[in-house]
Amino acid sequence: MKGSYRIGRIFGIPILIHYTFLIVIPLLAWIIGSQISLTTDTIRGIFQVPIDTSLITAGFMPWILGTVVALGLFLGVLVHEIAHCIIARQNGVKIQSITLLIFGGVSQMEDVGVPDPKVELPMALAGPLTSLLVGIVCGGIVFFIPEMTTDTATAGVLILIFGYLSFLNVILFAFNLIPAFPMDGGRVLRAELAKRMPLHKATRIAANVGKAFAIIFGIVGLIFFNPFLILIALFVYIGASSESTMDQFTYLLHDVTVGTTMSSPVTVVAPTLTLAKVIEMMLISKHLGFPVVEQDKLVGMITLVDVNRIPQIDRETMQVRNIMTHDPITLPPSAPVMDAFRIMSARNIGRIPIVQEGRVVGIVTRTDILKVTELKKI
Ligand code: ZN
Repeated sequence: MKGSYRIGRIFGIPILIHYTFLIVIPLLAWIIGSQISLTTDTIRGIFQVPIDTSLITAGFMPWILGTVVALGLFLGVLVHEIAHCIIARQNGVKIQSITLLIFGGVSQMEDVGVPDPKVELPMALAGPLTSLLVGIVCGGIVFFIPEMTTDTATAGVLILIFGYLSFLNVILFAFNLIPAFPMDGGRVLRAELAKRMPLHKATRIAANVGKAFAIIFGIVGLIFFNPFLILIALFVYIGASSESTMDQFTYLLHDVTVGTTMSSPVTVVAPTLTLAKVIEMMLISKHLGFPVVEQDKLVGMITLVDVNRIPQIDRETMQVRNIMTHDPITLPPSAPVMDAFRIMSARNIGRIPIVQEGRVVGIVTRTDILKVTELKKI
C-alpha cells in the first residue's frame, strides 16, 4: 500500500505503518487527554471500582495517559491482525505484511486467487474474537489492581489505563463485526453467503452492504460533523469497491490463459523505423503500442506515450530503437491471464507481448482482458 513505512517484523511478518495511523495516534492522545475526567467517570461506572483521580489529573498526566492509551490501542490492533495471520498461516495462506491504517489493520495475504469460504470464516473471526479476549483480560486486570498496590493514586492511573484499553478493545471487537466489506464482519458475511451462491455473487453483495454502511457512516459523520466517521466512510467505500472488482476479475478469469485472450497476429515494427512512420501505423491499425522485432527476436516495445515525449520535428529522423523500452516483460501463451492483469496493474503498462519459443505470437492489452471479462459475465 502506498504511503506505508516498515517498522519491524513479528513472527517473520513485516509490520507496516500507514501515514494515516501516524496522524491518528497524536490526535487520539490529545482527544483522550482532554476528556480524561469524563472518561474516568465512565470507567468508574462500568467497572464499579473507586478511582483516585489525584495523579490522573495532575500536570501533564492527562496527555501522558492519552499517549499511553493511544499506543495501547495500537498494540491491540496489532494483536488483532496477528491473530488473523496466525489462523491464515495454519490454513496455508501466506502473509506478505500487516499494515496499520487509520481505522485498524489490514493484513496483506499473498494472492491465493479466490479465497476458500471455509478458510475465510475462521480467519475473519480470529481478529475480533482476539480483541474481545484482550478486552476481557484488561477488564480482569482492573479488579486486581486495588489488591496489588496500596497507593491509591497509582492504582487510579493503572485502573484508568486498563479500564480504557478494555473498553477500546471491546469497541474494536464490535466495530469489526459490522457486516461491511472489507471489515472482518463483511468477510464473515461473504463466507456465509458463499455457502449458498457462487463466490463472485457473494462478494458483490457483501461489497454492496459495505458501500451502504459507508454511505450511512458518511451521512452520520456529516450531520454530527465527526471527521473520524467521514474518514472511515471513505476508507470502507474505497475498500469495498476495490476488493469486489479484484475478486470479480479473479473469479471470472481463473481458467483463462493469455493465449486465448491475446490479439494475434500482431503488428510488429523494426527498430530502424522512424517515429513518424510509427505514428502512421498507429493511425491505420488503431493500436497504441507495438513489439519491436529484429531478426524474429523481440528486442523492445514502443508505445504512443514513448513517441509523444519526442518533439514533432525530431520524429522524422529519430528511430524506434532510440526510445523503445528494452527487454520488455513477456508472457508465454500458457500463462494465466490474471498474471498479465496483475503485471499491468503493478507496473502501470497497457500491453504485454506474448512470446513462444523466442517469437512474438501475439499481444495482450487491458482492453482485451476487459472484453474477455465482459464475455465471461454472461
Ligand atoms: Zn480484523
